[in-house]
Amino acid sequence: MDSQPGFDPDALGLPNGHFIGGVACAERGGGARMAVLRPSDRKAAGDIPVADAELVDRAVRAASAALKDSGWADLAPRERARVLRRWADLIDANRETLCRLEAVVSTRIVGEVRARDVKVCAEVLRYFAEWADKVDGQVTPSPGNALSLVLHEPYGVVGAIVPWNFPLILASWKFAPALAAGNAVVLKPSELTPYSILLVARLAIEAGLPPGLFNVIQGDGATGAALVRHPDVAMVTFTGSTATGARILQDVAPSMKPVTLELGGKGPQLVFADAGSLERIAELVTRGFTINAGQACYAGTRLVVQRSIKDRLLDLILARTAHLTPGATWDSATTLAPVANERQRDRIAAIVSGAVAGGATALTGGGVVEAPVGGCFYGATVLDGVTTGSPAFLEEIFGPVLAVQTFDEEEEGLALADHPTYGLTASVFTGSIDRALRAVRAIQSGTVWVNNYGRGDDMTLPFGGYKRSGLGREMGRIGYEKYLKTKAVWIQFDAGGPP
Ligand code: NAD
Repeated sequence: MDSQPGFDPDALGLPNGHFIGGVACAERGGGARMAVLRPSDRKAAGDIPVADAELVDRAVRAASAALKDSGWADLAPRERARVLRRWADLIDANRETLCRLEAVVSTRIVGEVRARDVKVCAEVLRYFAEWADKVDGQVTPSPGNALSLVLHEPYGVVGAIVPWNFPLILASWKFAPALAAGNAVVLKPSELTPYSILLVARLAIEAGLPPGLFNVIQGDGATGAALVRHPDVAMVTFTGSTATGARILQDVAPSMKPVTLELGGKGPQLVFADAGSLERIAELVTRGFTINAGQACYAGTRLVVQRSIKDRLLDLILARTAHLTPGATWDSATTLAPVANERQRDRIAAIVSGAVAGGATALTGGGVVEAPVGGCFYGATVLDGVTTGSPAFLEEIFGPVLAVQTFDEEEEGLALADHPTYGLTASVFTGSIDRALRAVRAIQSGTVWVNNYGRGDDMTLPFGGYKRSGLGREMGRIGYEKYLKTKAVWIQFDAGGPP
């Protein structure tokens, strides 16, 4: 719970439209307008213009022109870094406004956004600004009459598409490294959460980013597809569902432009009997499946627990879920966020019903809950006796639902922790270093946390998926380098020498 007050969502002035070439733009081309509803009470906050292919083209052309006119890619890297650092400072200075714009139409609770999301967005800019003059090229071994070099160059215009669950953080993971590396960006936020990024874009101009280097276009899947297919978009970076990721792969296939995909997850929390403080683990596991009402790619939604400690751990988890308070994202007393919309709520309900019909037992939750504010809320749910054929095991639920599976022997636990489809994050809790390392090796996942859950404030580790959780990585050095192409140069300087 946040000690600072919440806010009145009706008193909030919302920015609107796209941001192209350094200015706000309300046009929609031939596209429609789309209502933006607040998940907390399902009232309309406003609407957005849906960019059609022509408007997407205008944004991409603005980005290309800005790259050419500003010489951004050829600036001294520390100059680029200076602009990004100023931008980060402005984001910090506007934290409260950004926080409200983020919370009002998303599922992010105001206190969490205040404590984390806006700060992370600014820190990500600072982190990648620091990489701008740190990634070297290479001189490779060559004969004496030649010099062979490896150079890195930005792609040009990067098309970035992000989802609604952590709008600011996930956008910053893309625009910060792409711009630091010398690219321009056209970003499409989710149609559900279009507002906070517009203020971020305006602050970029205030910080001195040349107009047109960072553009925001509003719209739905068709807008995103037009961006992905645009011939002048040289690279695509996407975060969202595995199904959309697969469509994007098909869309980039004819042009073979590089793409990175950050997709769904189904994270296990593997707890061995020798793990130590069950209180701490219960805290982390509860947070792992209820954060943002489970609407997190890295949610730890599967508890795989050794039989001898199962009952004690479950009691501690159930004691914690009992205290969760559903409420509006703008209310500082809220501790259980709404789910995004009716579709999401009904999908969660269908998966839980399917799991129960298949033999699982709901130890708590298992249904929709009412909150005084209205909106769509699903109760924190713990499902025991989930089998590997259950939809609660197989599918990314994107709701506050923990699927519990029990094991006796280590090998059995490791096999259950490794998911057949997803491999984004996993946690292992054990007091044995040998067992921890065996688990790290055995679980096919882009991230494995040992005796921990979540990224905290870390910027250095790459994040991304194995299996159908994605292609490529974000954050860390690799999250910067992915925005650079590699060029090999061979300089023959003794023309009279051997051919
Ligand atoms: P989504 O795939 O429905 O939409 C994501 C974005 O893609 C939106 O902006 C949407 O408008 C756009 N889009 C939709 N169809 C498109 C198309 N054909 N071409 C281009 N763009 C298109 O996902 P969502 O419901 O917004 O987000 C939830 C999903 O995102 C979950 O599966 C979650 O696990 C995943 N996610 C992954 C990460 C990660 O880092 N791995 C982080 C957060 C969320």
